[in-house]
Amino acid sequence: MRRFTEDTLLIATHNAGKLEEIKDLLSDYPVQVIGAAEKGLLEPVEDGTTFIENARIKARAAVAATGLPVLADDSGIEVDALNGAPGVYTADWAETPDGRDFVMAMTRTHEALLESGVASPWTARFCCTFVLAWPDGDEEIFQGRMEGQITWPMRGDQGHGYDPIFQPRGKDVTFGEMAFAAKNRISHRADAFRKLKAVFHSG
Ligand code: IMP
Repeated sequence: MRRFTEDTLLIATHNAGKLEEIKDLLSDYPVQVIGAAEKGLLEPVEDGTTFIENARIKARAAVAATGLPVLADDSGIEVDALNGAPGVYTADWAETPDGRDFVMAMTRTHEALLESGVASPWTARFCCTFVLAWPDGDEEIFQGRMEGQITWPMRGDQGHGYDPIFQPRGKDVTFGEMAFAAKNRISHRADAFRKLKAVFHSG
């Protein structure tokens, strides 16, 4: 695995929460972390068909615009009875003309499951992919996941996105009912982060 030895890393996200999470993760390492907004980057069209392709599109667009090494991520939820949907279209299922509506997206997921005729438990997983891309064309990929099942009705208001209908394996609460820190210890993003951190270790 290639080590990260540069002194600056650009995070290809306009999401302030994600940027803070990544800054916090890398705070022990001698690297300056900057966000896409600081460089005035535009968001590219994410027309890939996998999490890796979409993360790579975001990473490569930012590398091309800045000449800096870039970290980009893509995430979503895969439901087995829906053949992996919504998958890379997880955010799209929430799109409305007035912004994202996750109650609508969760309702749509539940209705699709009823239509599928597949009996519960409805196994599913949250996935998170990081692509770390260097200006010389090299890249490293890190993938994290959290297995669980879709539950209905929605429960909890602690999280975001699809959290109220996702019950992680081994728990009797949904991500939406878990405290922020408790979810962040076991989440797909934490899993991918653990793998990513290895490139910042020397030796
Ligand atoms: P993106 O990674 O920013 O493209 O967004 C993927 C979508 O997946 C988000 O809009 C969220 O709805 C959903 N998602 C990703 N991670 C989580 C999570 O931890 N909880 C709930 N929803 C999530």
